[in-house]
Amino acid sequence: MQAPPALRTIGHHISGKAVADARGRLGDVFDPARGQVQAHVAFADEEMVDRAVQAAKTAFPAWSRTPLGKRAEILFAFRHLVRDHTPELASILASEHGKIVSDAEGEIARALEVIDFACSLPQALKGQFSENVSRSIDTYSIRQPLGVCAGITPFNFPIMVPAWMFALAIAAGNTFVLKPSERDPSAAVRVAELFADAGLPDGVFNVVHGDKVAVDALMHHPDVAAISFVGSTPIARYIYETAATQGKRVQALGGAKNHMVVMPDADMEAAADAAVSAAFGSAGQRCMAISATITVGDAAEKFIAEVRKRAESIKVGPGHDRKNDMGPLVTPQARDRVLRLIAEGERDGALLSVDGRPLKVADHEQGFFIGPTLFDKVKPQMSIYSEEIFGPVLINVRASTLEDALQLIAHNPYGNGTSIFTRDGAAARKFQSEVEVGMVGINVPIPVPVGYYSFGGWKHSLFGDLHIYGEDGFRFYTRGKVVTSRWDESNAGMNLGFPTHK
Ligand code: NAD
Repeated sequence: MQAPPALRTIGHHISGKAVADARGRLGDVFDPARGQVQAHVAFADEEMVDRAVQAAKTAFPAWSRTPLGKRAEILFAFRHLVRDHTPELASILASEHGKIVSDAEGEIARALEVIDFACSLPQALKGQFSENVSRSIDTYSIRQPLGVCAGITPFNFPIMVPAWMFALAIAAGNTFVLKPSERDPSAAVRVAELFADAGLPDGVFNVVHGDKVAVDALMHHPDVAAISFVGSTPIARYIYETAATQGKRVQALGGAKNHMVVMPDADMEAAADAAVSAAFGSAGQRCMAISATITVGDAAEKFIAEVRKRAESIKVGPGHDRKNDMGPLVTPQARDRVLRLIAEGERDGALLSVDGRPLKVADHEQGFFIGPTLFDKVKPQMSIYSEEIFGPVLINVRASTLEDALQLIAHNPYGNGTSIFTRDGAAARKFQSEVEVGMVGINVPIPVPVGYYSFGGWKHSLFGDLHIYGEDGFRFYTRGKVVTSRWDESNAGMNLGFPTHK
């Protein structure tokens, strides 16, 4: 009998080159639609992380002094390469993450938006100048890069979320080490190759794979100036605390439980379309997924009937088939976690309106699929309400008034995204003003800000001060310097008093 072919090992990308690393620990990379391991990924140890950081450190002086126009030119070239390679990149995402290729193309389009904004670097990095702040004295401010920046990213957007970080960090003159999710690591390597093809000098963008060992090595490395993290809340908090004690600049975006409020006057068909798209797209594995609806007053009966009809019509299957609407969960652990939470919802007495567990996908019986699942009459103390499910499960809570809905959202520990569906401008205005959440949609279910605004949640959805990408991104990846200069032939004379503008 022939031995099965050996699986490939996905290596790192350091200083412009592929770095094979099969000597240490390896992780499994699944084909989630088939439920099989399709590759291994190298897990970097401290030495490998140091190698990547040293490459980035060596590249920093020349890159930070590269003229702004030249940096923009390389980013433009990179932007075109990413756009032109969209089909290939989308296929990688479908293969390792499991999302449908059309959804993957959407992710890449949103990454391109941030890269577009990064191309505006000559404008974004302008300082300010004040002439004559005192006699013959001018004051001006400049923003300078930090040095080596690191990014640690989640599995659910293997291209878009890293781009939120590296595009602006590199545009601002920093060099970068990315530690992508070990569950779908190939896209990051392909992006690094495209960056090299665009003319990015070696060492400016590096990729190391791994788990906690690699992440801890980055956080404790003395040559890493800043850490950006996106992932689950417990790890975000750990990253924020640990990196801050190492004296690093840090922003750590965490998990979510995004509520969509449905008012009784809403267009119920539009609201149901929006809720179903936002809850079940990418099998619910989006930080901005709508995972809980709150129906106000008598909205529930009509709304739930419309949602049920749509949830039952969703076509589930492998991501490479464009005819499908929804793919599998990313790993068997992710599938089992969602199954546990569905069982707890039933046990706790929520009304299981659509059950996705019996679903079978032909020719993919081992795939990590769960069909769209809908619970109604959920109470806040149930685990399906309090935990982030991160799967194709939509829960509905019934509330009497908009005030009650706002209170429910305020008491939730997360504050990433939220939305309201209504025809009443006053209700919408009250909601946008009072809701304790960082990103708000009005008759829009997934209010992910466009690339020239910034993205960030409140409460346990973000630890740190600045949001990610947009203007906040440039602020995060630069530090300010203010210069006070005097160019004058005359001598102001000796004066031991504190300088004033007089
Ligand atoms: P995760 O927290 O498990 O992993 C994120 C990253 O942290 C990965 O690179 C992983 O290798 C690393 N990591 C995991 N455990 C670690 C540990 N103990 N110590 C150090 N590093 C560790 O998240 P995930 O499952 O990949 O992604 C899903 C989560 O990310 C969800 O909670 C989702 O809401 C969140 N998310 C948030 C946003 C946002 O913008 N707020 C965006 C996307 C995803």
